[in-house]
Amino acid sequence: MTDTNLNLDVALGVTIPARHARGRAVRLGPAIDEILANHAYPPVIETLLAEALALTALLGSLLKDGGGQMTLQAQTENGIVDLLVCDYLNGELRGYVRYDSERLAEAGPTPSLFALFGKGYLAITFDQASTKERYQGIVPLEGESLALAAQSYFTQSEQIPSIVRLAAAKSDDGWTASGIIFQHLPEGEEGRERIHTKLDHPEWGHVAVLAGSIKDGELLDRVLPLDELVWRPFHEEAEVRILPAVPLSRGCRCDPSYVRSVIARFPVEERARMVGDDGFIRVDCAFCATDFPIALDEIEP
Ligand SMILES: [Zn+2]
Repeated sequence: MTDTNLNLDVALGVTIPARHARGRAVRLGPAIDEILANHAYPPVIETLLAEALALTALLGSLLKDGGGQMTLQAQTENGIVDLLVCDYLNGELRGYVRYDSERLAEAGPTPSLFALFGKGYLAITFDQASTKERYQGIVPLEGESLALAAQSYFTQSEQIPSIVRLAAAKSDDGWTASGIIFQHLPEGEEGRERIHTKLDHPEWGHVAVLAGSIKDGELLDRVLPLDELVWRPFHEEAEVRILPAVPLSRGCRCDPSYVRSVIARFPVEERARMVGDDGFIRVDCAFCATDFPIALDEIEP
């Protein structure tokens, strides 16, 4: 055993070779608190973003190579929430939500996913670092929850039978957001090419029932390590392989030195036009809900 934290801010992979299934489990705590701290979102939006971040961590941890990026974007036509963006890079997560606060207030304390998004779409983009390949799939945002929308993304867009569960709640300890995904892989092993998948595969039905038996209370139980969480329903299987854990944290790429390097690529005259009334170039980061004042003389000529 290692002493890696398997309780909070961590993703864990699992395979069940005899059942041709793989899974991922994540549980986020302090990372969610840090991300939400920069925004003053109402509880409904905080819960939505916390779940979306758990989903982002689940999907990001499916990336085969370390430097790959996964982006989750929900966009709507005239929904209360008009944009939700989260991404994952090297175990770092960030996200934000754009919404109409007046219409949200009118929607009551527990609006459904449909009430929040109306007619919306969920786009999931994987950028593999090693191969520079980009894969994007888009599905309608329907169903009662983000988890069901993600499930239909895999089932419809990818033809991979999948079960996705998400839960998020705030307690005296702060936020906890957690999720599991289990998927049927006809070849059994990760990394091999998918040839053909039957949605009604009997082995898959068994895995789906057991994975579906994991309760929200277990997902959100901060003292239950993830290896135990995923092992519990499958303890009668001949073999359950636990993959190395991936630590998760809040992370943004909007650091001022990077921003200065981006501005430095613009011609000098254009840089001058970017300067605002206060004498600074203001660069917004929607993820951090902050803007960075950059002075012209900070930029490399
Ligand atoms: Zn940022």
